[in-house]
Amino acid sequence: MELELVLGDITKIEVDAIVNAANTSLLGGGGVDGAIHRAGGKEVLDDCIRIRNRQGGCKVGEAVITTAGKLRAKHVIHTVGPRWNNGQSNEDEKLRNCYINCLAIAQEHGLKTMAIPNISTGIYKFPKERAAAIAIETVQKHPADLHRIVFVCFDAENYAIYNNLLGN
Ligand code: ADP
Repeated sequence: MELELVLGDITKIEVDAIVNAANTSLLGGGGVDGAIHRAGGKEVLDDCIRIRNRQGGCKVGEAVITTAGKLRAKHVIHTVGPRWNNGQSNEDEKLRNCYINCLAIAQEHGLKTMAIPNISTGIYKFPKERAAAIAIETVQKHPADLHRIVFVCFDAENYAIYNNLLGN
């Protein structure tokens, strides 16, 4: 499996699935969630509402898949990262579960390429170094049949951290 690092906007990436750092409501929000819903349009939200009506949103650490609407990607995998609480709420394990569950959904749907943002490191304030180490370690430990995973960093600080950890 190839790990790629990109500095940029995840809504522009053409892959089988982009991952959204959603919230438990699945109704959209700020940050990458807002950007994905804006670019994907009504179809993405309609799918999220269908899932919400069926199972009542998405819990922290879990993931669900929807259409990607007007995005270049084929699907969006919405996962809910933990809000940082000074390390007192099993945040590491919850973040690890986000990556594990996104990989499992990708596997179930036979996806080959996936792009992932730096879950929880924006509004949810998870320390960036710590989040990056968990992201890289988890995808390396749980090889799905994916051919390519793209880590998409939106800020230079995360990009530098990933670059360093990936040994580029
Ligand atoms: P969270 O609530 O999980 O912290 P945020 O959306 O606030 O979610 O931030 C998660 C990460 O996504 C942050 O590193 C932020 O810089 C990044 N981000 C924001 N917009 C985009 C985008 N369009 N493409 C990729 N990453 C983005």
